[in-house]
Amino acid sequence: MPISLIPIREALHVRPGRLFINGNWHDWDGERFEQIQPATNEIMTSFAEAGSEGVGLAVAAARRAFDDGPWPGMRAQDRKRMLQPIVERIYAAEQEIAQLQTLDNGIPFTYSRNSRVSAKAAADIFDHFFGWIDKINGETYPLYSMASNMQYMTFREPVGVVAAILPYNGPVMTFAMKVAPALACGCTVVVKPSEYTNLAVLKLAEIIAESDLPPGVFNIVTGGAETGTALSSHPGIDKVTFTGSPIVGEKITIASVPNMKRLSLELGGKSAAIVFPDADSVAVAATRLMGLCSTFLSGQVCTTPTRAIVHRSIMEEFLHHAAEQVKTVRFGDPFDPATTSAPIISKRQKEKILAYIEQGKREGADLRFGGGTPGGELANGNWIDPVLFANVRNDMTIAREEIFGPVLSVIPFDTEDEAIRIANDSEYGLAGCVYTSNVNRAFRVARAMRSGSIGVNGYASIPNAPMGGIKRSGVGREGGWPTIEAFTELKTINFNLDG
Ligand code: NAD
Repeated sequence: MPISLIPIREALHVRPGRLFINGNWHDWDGERFEQIQPATNEIMTSFAEAGSEGVGLAVAAARRAFDDGPWPGMRAQDRKRMLQPIVERIYAAEQEIAQLQTLDNGIPFTYSRNSRVSAKAAADIFDHFFGWIDKINGETYPLYSMASNMQYMTFREPVGVVAAILPYNGPVMTFAMKVAPALACGCTVVVKPSEYTNLAVLKLAEIIAESDLPPGVFNIVTGGAETGTALSSHPGIDKVTFTGSPIVGEKITIASVPNMKRLSLELGGKSAAIVFPDADSVAVAATRLMGLCSTFLSGQVCTTPTRAIVHRSIMEEFLHHAAEQVKTVRFGDPFDPATTSAPIISKRQKEKILAYIEQGKREGADLRFGGGTPGGELANGNWIDPVLFANVRNDMTIAREEIFGPVLSVIPFDTEDEAIRIANDSEYGLAGCVYTSNVNRAFRVARAMRSGSIGVNGYASIPNAPMGGIKRSGVGREGGWPTIEAFTELKTINFNLDG
């Protein structure tokens, strides 16, 4: 019997999606699309394709709320009091949000509930950013020359109307990473979730809609690329905050030019993990690195180190432990606690990954295991057995392009310099890792790797530390004060003290 998620869809009372614009929920009698569950390819429900009409209404509402409403200039304490209850409401609804996120993208419920993409983690992100509200301050400057008697000071003002465009892999966490700082800084916002993952985000929208925000401060439109294009190119938008693929990031950058929209872009990665022979445990490094590709979101995570650069002297040990790790992988009903791994988000993405695996073989990489597509009760879902390629060269396609699936490429090295050169020979620079017990080497290599963030003997992100990419991995940082800077504009006022 193939697995089915219809019973849980019914138990959660999933209903056709609506739009939230100017403080009201709208049914949409225009175009709609169906959201498909990737573990079973069953239809979950339908959502509005807001298109340019829905986007126009939402941006107009957000524009009015920003230009004419009380929100941007509200006193810090009032804004804080209005927003703070959202945190507790997300905590209170975390289980339901986690269930909806699992229905969205098939992430195993255990992870949806207890990882950095969980609703609890999202509540932490809101909590962190709402804590900045009364600390968004400017500076004063000493007089520089005798010629003037001016007092110079800066103010941080909200950047304006923000478009927040989300990916499918961590819909709850990315929603929080964009909406929380936007609201904290006094911006108004129009959110567009990924067309693959609307359920959990609309539940979060319901929670925000319950608060006393002035109409138009928070709006949500659903839809695919057409709606995303309408939103990111709309002249009423001042800033786009986007997490997604580099190719869409490029399109958004081009669309930003006519009115010089501010941009925060969290894009793709092809991150490297360098494993030295003096690592505390080669077994731990291999298990973690293979685990990131094979469990959780099955490699559909931007920061996953998909290139393991492993010293030749420990190669066989590394490969052995990676193969052992894969034996622990279990596919199945995402709500079954035994299930370890998510399906691939769509049939199209599954075919793309399988084509990369074929290309890896054609280019001469050594396929050690994986690449199969399970049948039986899993036959209807988008599953791929986790893949390890050994003896990969860094010029092979599988080492250069972001596959966004369960594929680990293992590249041998002999010297530290060579390992760093291979790690940096990439058009991406999002994250990375170094496994060593030598503190000097850890810092030396972490500093030499060209990436937005590096983990030493492990990797994890938190809401109050910046994270983001260089090169094709993006522009700007999410987390902590740099995010506040990215959602505000600096205004300098010169005050003539001579009157
Ligand atoms: P995607 O780029 O296909 O879609 C992301 C969003 O953009 C969706 O909401 C989509 O509807 C919208 N969109 C599509 N075309 C558009 C257009 N022309 N203009 C405006 N919006 C448009 O990405 P995805 O498949 O949902 O997510 C996977 C990608 O996201 C990977 O590349 C991954 O590395 C990246 N990602 C990065 C981070 C990070 O923090 N750096 C985090 C998660 C995911």
